[in-house]
Amino acid sequence: MTILLPTIINAIQNTIDENSTEVTELDKAIGDGDHVVNLQRGLDALSQISDELSSMTWSAAFMKIGMTLMSTMGGASGSLFGSMFISMAKAAKDKELNAISFAEIFNQGIESVKQRGKSDIGEKTMLDTLIPVANSLQTDVANNIDYHQMLENIVRQAIKGMESTKELIATKGRASFLGERAIGHIDPGARTSQLMICAVVAVLKQ
Ligand SMILES: [Mg+2]
Repeated sequence: MTILLPTIINAIQNTIDENSTEVTELDKAIGDGDHVVNLQRGLDALSQISDELSSMTWSAAFMKIGMTLMSTMGGASGSLFGSMFISMAKAAKDKELNAISFAEIFNQGIESVKQRGKSDIGEKTMLDTLIPVANSLQTDVANNIDYHQMLENIVRQAIKGMESTKELIATKGRASFLGERAIGHIDPGARTSQLMICAVVAVLKQ
């Protein structure tokens, strides 16, 4: 199934490129405006190794993705996405990938983002998108929810989580210096996380 990775990486690159102006505007409003460029640099590095990734086990592919993002993306998000995938690699070791195992693997990845960023839900970050998605996946596999419905729920939670950042003040990162002036702006990291998750789901639906 890592055979899907080149398609997934390509779909993610497309959605980030298509929405780059909007996200950069958000980032200029509450950050330093480099989020999209950093992300595009990381995605470009992944696309260059996507054929190699497609012949690996999931654990090895997650590790390679994490190391590549960490060394190419830079910025806070490079280390956060890097540690997320490295944790997912460890959690995926010797496991078959299916919805049940992925829910746990993804959750381990999110836990490492929380630890590395010393952050949690409600702080106007990418975690406001990622945590509701991880929770939705875990609840749905525990309740044996149909695969298609599970994908729909992921999309709904990602969008809802992303939108929730609009009314939040930031307590982490550069946006925290703005205090209440950050209210009214969606967090750029929450937005790109939502775009990427929706792109992955779109590929999985095909
Ligand atoms: Mg930045």
